[in-house]
Amino acid sequence: MAEKRDYYEILGVSKGASDDELKKAYRKMAKQYHPDANPGNKEAEAKFKEVNEAYGILSDPQKHAAYDQMGHAAFDQTGGGGFYGGASFDMGDIFDNFFGGGFGDIFGGSTGRRTSARRGADLHANLSIKFEEAVFGVEKDIQIMSNETCDACKGSGAKAGTVAESCKHCGGTGQERVQQQSIFGTMTTVRSCSVCGGEGRIIKEPCPVCRGAGAVRRSKTLKVSVPKGIDNGQSIRLGGRGEPGAKGGLAGDLLVTIHVQPHKLFSREGTNLYLEVPVTFAQAALGAEIIVPTLDSAEKYTIKPGTQTGTHFVMRGKGVPNVRNNRVVGDLVVSLKVTVPTSLTEKQKQLLRDFAFEMGEEYTDHRKGFWDKLKDTLK
Ligand SMILES: [Zn+2]
Ligand SMILES: [Zn+2]
Repeated sequence: MAEKRDYYEILGVSKGASDDELKKAYRKMAKQYHPDANPGNKEAEAKFKEVNEAYGILSDPQKHAAYDQMGHAAFDQTGGGGFYGGASFDMGDIFDNFFGGGFGDIFGGSTGRRTSARRGADLHANLSIKFEEAVFGVEKDIQIMSNETCDACKGSGAKAGTVAESCKHCGGTGQERVQQQSIFGTMTTVRSCSVCGGEGRIIKEPCPVCRGAGAVRRSKTLKVSVPKGIDNGQSIRLGGRGEPGAKGGLAGDLLVTIHVQPHKLFSREGTNLYLEVPVTFAQAALGAEIIVPTLDSAEKYTIKPGTQTGTHFVMRGKGVPNVRNNRVVGDLVVSLKVTVPTSLTEKQKQLLRDFAFEMGEEYTDHRKGFWDKLKDTLK
């Protein structure tokens, strides 16, 4: 395992920094490395965890003192000799308290009560779009049901005009400390307050609109910008458009899964489009200029005399833009299908008989010739 970095160094403060300085440094760092500001950035994520861990220790007076005395060894869970050895030190705890909770504080929440802030739930929605809309992009409105902050109590859960009382048991911190004797001496564990359930406050008169929950269920309409080149089954993440966080926590995300309706003529594989174009026997035999439809227009294409059915050609850049890089566009692959007329006039039939005769195949013997050839190959 890599050497653990010094907690003061991580937060960029000097040893002996005041609580305010620590808090300020933590806010700045957590904002900088917050996953929402650095989507998919593993390095930022690691830094973010590191910053949270450092602040988790340094903001707790007891752990802070232990760290100053013994450094990381104070929290060494494998050595057994650490001050907080074993179960009393729980990373999960720190995360609950600071990972989820810190944000209310950092991102403008006013409660300042880290213990109860929670990130809102992610929401999921489905959106069906036309084939062309997936290729060219589109903007759509979608309706989703979501828990929204209650207007009547502004999310506090307390009836308008009343305020929730600070919990006397925990002094509003939402936490209680329990001391236990062990072979290492007295250990202190911190847990959610048993009276207020970690909320830090008690609602005497609940808001009648949301029954004290602080949130109501409501339908909302959101604009979804579907990027060019999206494919069936892919989804779009709208950061912060999920359910609101509780007690100043961040909102969750909205994940919209895209369903692309099939096209009557075109099919798609990745960024390539496929199209089958019918040509007549005469066109295939004599060559011709044909019209090939693309998704947004049509192009002329000249087929050579003697073109066979199944012949295909590629129209470069007439496919689908890459969803991640729109400058890269796939191709349109066209295959030609020579069609046989199904209803012929007497004159047309006679012309075809004459044609067959001219080709040296008396049309009635044409099939016999084929079977004779087959017999030859089997001899
Ligand atoms: Zn309410
Ligand atoms: Zn309490």
